[in-house]
Amino acid sequence: MSDQRPTSYFGVNVFNEKAMKERLPRHVFEKLMDAIAGGEALDFSIADIVATAMKEWAVSRGATHYTHWFHPRTELTAEKHMAFLTADPQGSPLESFNGGELIQSEPDASSLPSGGMRSTFEARGYTAWDPTSPAFVVPSEGGGTLCIPSVFISNDGTPLDMKTPLIRALTVIEKSTLRLLKIFGNRGVRGVSVTLGAEQEYFLIDTEQAAKRPDLLFCGRTLMGANPPKGQQMEDHYFGSIHPRVLAFMEDVDERMATLGMVLKTRHNEVAPCQFEFAPQFAEANLAVDQNQILMEQMRRIAGKHGFRLLLHEKPFSLINGSGKHLNFSIMDSDGKNLLKPSSSQRKNLQFLTLISALLLGLSRYGGLLRASIATPGNMHRLGGNEAPPSIMSVYLGDVLSQIFERISKGLPEQLPSKGLLDLGLSRLPAILKENTDRNRTAPLAFTGNKLEFRAPGSSQSTAGPLTMILALWAWGMEQMANRIESRLAETDVADAALDAIRTAAVESANIRFEGNCYTGEWLEEAKRRGLPIANTTEEALNLYLVPEHRELLENLGIFSDREITAYREIRLEQYVKTLEIDLSVMESMIWEGVLPAVTKQIKDEGEALAALPAGIDVDQTTWKEHIEELLTLKNGLLDGVKKIEEIRNRIQDPGNGEKTSELTDQALSFLESIRGICDAAESRISGEYWPYPRYRELLLIR
Ligand code: ADP
Ligand code: MG
Repeated sequence: MSDQRPTSYFGVNVFNEKAMKERLPRHVFEKLMDAIAGGEALDFSIADIVATAMKEWAVSRGATHYTHWFHPRTELTAEKHMAFLTADPQGSPLESFNGGELIQSEPDASSLPSGGMRSTFEARGYTAWDPTSPAFVVPSEGGGTLCIPSVFISNDGTPLDMKTPLIRALTVIEKSTLRLLKIFGNRGVRGVSVTLGAEQEYFLIDTEQAAKRPDLLFCGRTLMGANPPKGQQMEDHYFGSIHPRVLAFMEDVDERMATLGMVLKTRHNEVAPCQFEFAPQFAEANLAVDQNQILMEQMRRIAGKHGFRLLLHEKPFSLINGSGKHLNFSIMDSDGKNLLKPSSSQRKNLQFLTLISALLLGLSRYGGLLRASIATPGNMHRLGGNEAPPSIMSVYLGDVLSQIFERISKGLPEQLPSKGLLDLGLSRLPAILKENTDRNRTAPLAFTGNKLEFRAPGSSQSTAGPLTMILALWAWGMEQMANRIESRLAETDVADAALDAIRTAAVESANIRFEGNCYTGEWLEEAKRRGLPIANTTEEALNLYLVPEHRELLENLGIFSDREITAYREIRLEQYVKTLEIDLSVMESMIWEGVLPAVTKQIKDEGEALAALPAGIDVDQTTWKEHIEELLTLKNGLLDGVKKIEEIRNRIQDPGNGEKTSELTDQALSFLESIRGICDAAESRISGEYWPYPRYRELLLIR
């Protein structure tokens, strides 16, 4: 920890506006700012000057290398480091970095997933600098690396990353929002930006303990483990005092992230033992997406230094809460005003209700896309487990807003002049909304006073995926609202037309509004009646990308071409299947190497002890014998199980007889569950001396 005040080192590792202004000639700085704001692209002569300044700055921060830093279509980021150091023909060293290198780079990225978008003979893709997110230096033991946020594109110009669709979606939503704002008479607004604050949950496990569990090492989660005697039943961990070792980790992360320009506003214990959360100060979405990726990476590194293994998996331990990532989002205008903040002005509130209606409309029509966007192998184990929102996409608006929507949709204006309703319903909005704090935490999407919160994304996910889909369907909804309002402006004023559009939207979106407890079975039944998309497995959810209307929407908005979205789904499906294969093989080896030998030893012990009883003991031995028989049954179950695992694994790798992946993966999933049951039963019947793996109670304890 530094003994300096955070304000003194905040942002020192970011090539931000201030650093650029200091180091660039004025005309270059202005051209660059203009390019960032969406003006003309940079020409190479300017790029050279920027590159030199950026390199000088980075070297002054200790960097020896640079990399184009990008988000392939996995949840991770990719980097290939290049040294600044170059030897000239005379053999003298110099540091070189030019405009061409800043703007574009060609990593040999043929091994990154592309979903069939690049045939191997033209496997090259290139990365291109995205100046809208600032470059930064990540310090390391021996120096540091200048990271240049980039997009990743194949040679024919097809995007292969998570950022390009996001940047496109951000452009689309800005256009649609401005259209609505103009309708409501905001002529002065120059631009709007999406804001994002992603709460990050995670687990910390002692490195030493984790190292003894192949499942934690290779799958990031436990594949077996009997319920600990004291799980989270006591609920004494949440907001409890933070263990000093964890606090030291958090302080290092706070400091590192501050140097990287990210403010972590809150840090606390979460519900499960060894589970914690960081929440940042929200930022412009493109930047916030990058920052969350950097945060996850830095947490991983810093955890190691503190003797912890960081688990970002969505469900590392069964029977204990999993980890999510809550995406808080809103839209801000160029004056910094939050457009989802109810105000005391009726006009502003109509605008606010219109924006909310747009999201409701989009969600009710394209909710499947949102469901698809959170489909990851890990999240599948979390969603719908008693602590996480179910996999059905619905919105919780809160009492006040839902009452307003109810009343508007009941068509009260038939009896009342619509202006009357406006006074009646809307003028009292702000005061009440402020008190609207009782929040329903069971809904995947909720209005939380002045922003929305999407709670279904998984803790390890890139925020780019879900955010892109939210923006896509929201932008569509905005266009609908704008069309509907504009079409009536010849006959009536904006307020009337907007109120009508809100009314129609309220009626049309009734299917996805639900104020009750989303964790119950009744909601599942209700959702089925309402015809909402229900997808339980990752594969079913990913297939929602393929629904023709969904593809059309993304294509029409210019966010994903049809070919891209198909490829994207393919990559995701491949990852899912691979994850299952790894799970199966790790399970298999843990059983062979650890569980079976332990059961055998226990059987031997019991058998020998029984046989060695001194003669003349006249106590009934039936129960003891039954216990040995039970152990034998477990052993047989395990032996059958490993054979079955091998068989399923082979069929997944080489599906014969036209077997569908979905059938195989479903089988694999339920099979992993059932064999886990046998392992857990064995664990609770075997002596501590013989059980090969640290148990939950040892893993979930910070020493
Ligand atoms: P809670 O746990 O009650 O949901 P937190 O304080 O943990 O609340 O997290 C709230 C998150 O929402 C923070 O990251 C915060 O920066 C973010 N946030 C607040 N206002 C906005 C906004 N207008 N746009 C985007 N994110 C926001
Ligand atoms: Mg929250």
